[in-house]
Amino acid sequence: MPIRRLTDDMINRIAAGEVVERPASVVKELVENAIDAGASRIEIVTAGGGVALIRITDDGSGMDAADLAIAVERHATSKLADDLLDIRTLGFRGEALASIGAVARLSIASRHASEPHGWEVAVSGGVVEPLRPAAIAKGTRVEVRDLFFATPARLKFMKGERAEASAITDVVKRLAMAHPEIRFNLTGSDRTALDLPSTGGGGFAERLAQVLGRDFADNAMVIDAAREGVNLSGHAGLPTFHRANGLQQYLFVNGRPVRDKVLIGALRAGYADVMARDRHPVAALTLTLDPHEVDVNVHPAKADVRFRDPGLVRGLIVGALRQAIHQSGHRATSTGGG
Ligand code: ADP
Ligand code: MG
Repeated sequence: MPIRRLTDDMINRIAAGEVVERPASVVKELVENAIDAGASRIEIVTAGGGVALIRITDDGSGMDAADLAIAVERHATSKLADDLLDIRTLGFRGEALASIGAVARLSIASRHASEPHGWEVAVSGGVVEPLRPAAIAKGTRVEVRDLFFATPARLKFMKGERAEASAITDVVKRLAMAHPEIRFNLTGSDRTALDLPSTGGGGFAERLAQVLGRDFADNAMVIDAAREGVNLSGHAGLPTFHRANGLQQYLFVNGRPVRDKVLIGALRAGYADVMARDRHPVAALTLTLDPHEVDVNVHPAKADVRFRDPGLVRGLIVGALRQAIHQSGHRATSTGGG
């Protein structure tokens, strides 16, 4: 077989498969964009578990006509980092909008302060339509309809409306926890609804209470520790406050929600002596460290990170948890999972 070059259309669809796994990944990318745009309020509306519709409205910077035209192109980003180890925005690959546009019907209306009116661009299955004027307040409104209509094979993997809707809620909760200053509003076609007012001065602790409930707040230990420039803070449930799964473990690295093996393993190890093996702690922990000490550029979905010194991070978390558990008066028991 001769070697042939992939067409742009094929490249976009392949990339889309990595960036856009399910409706919740679309929500994650679009909410991250709104956060990067400096929004103080983000509203998310979904229908049909996000497959039929995802609409995200923000009051951030907006885009002028020239930026809007290029935003939907692959590898187009305003967040270009000369140093890939010093990334301070949530996005940086310039892949999300192009990927979403390749597999769905995407339309973006946006207005930048420098423009007398807004503009709108539409992309459907990778086909970009010319810009047209739009009536919109400053900020951006992104609409995604018929997700995966252009890739029916992927559509078959969707888990049903309820499961996709709850994955969306989870994504929004995680991003909302990382940004307590922003007001988040989520409305789904099912009964899912979240309304998280800006916490003002309350910060992370107040947002935690909003998202996880007073119950957790009343059963949590405050975690605050540092070692060699790595800071750990947040709340971790008492050993008596456990769950059947790890879904309520919220972990952040430099303001980015992650699902990292090192962190999850450290959390488990911290409780190993005081919690049965089949139970899982509830926790919301934030790790802050020099961006050069952690690589977030590991996976397109950016859920995994790579620490330069995983042993240091693990030791810090395990140590802080054990100390807090000890101070709370809990001792290892023979029923503990070890
Ligand atoms: P990335 O976020 O990695 O740059 P995206 O494909 O998600 O890539 O977005 C491309 C560009 O479009 C961004 O760099 C940004 O300039 C612009 N953009 C996307 N969403 C918004 C938004 N909600 N508000 C303002 N600008 C946006
Ligand atoms: Mg982005």
